[in-house]
Amino acid sequence: MMIVDVRKLNASGNWSGRLCFDYEAPAELIDIPFVHFSAPVRVEADYVLCEDDSLEVTGKVSYVLEGQCSRCLKDASQAVEGELSACFRLSPKDAEDYAYSGGRIDLTAAVNDAILASMPRVLSCGENCEGIDYRG
Ligand SMILES: [Zn+2]
Repeated sequence: MMIVDVRKLNASGNWSGRLCFDYEAPAELIDIPFVHFSAPVRVEADYVLCEDDSLEVTGKVSYVLEGQCSRCLKDASQAVEGELSACFRLSPKDAEDYAYSGGRIDLTAAVNDAILASMPRVLSCGENCEGIDYRG
């Protein structure tokens, strides 16, 4: 689940903890032609709920891209890891904060941003990629 229930955390006294879940990320996050996620994105993060009800989330997103090498079009896959670092506030202090209300925090936007920030521009089959052989 991508929802953190702030009221529940406050009620239970668990102001910090760890989140681990798999996320079916939307394919639109990938900008590379003929490439898709091979499996759901893995999200692992620690959270801390502060006294002003702001929630800090730090951790990582990891996923595997699968598809055609952007240079030679052979089948390729690549494991990617990205940093997840987000602060959710009732009233955001700066542009990087995420706003929330109603006692529930939806992590989706922050996780999508972390995936986008870590997304490579191309998929490569490896260091030995020779590109397309036009001699055919
Ligand atoms: Zn290649």
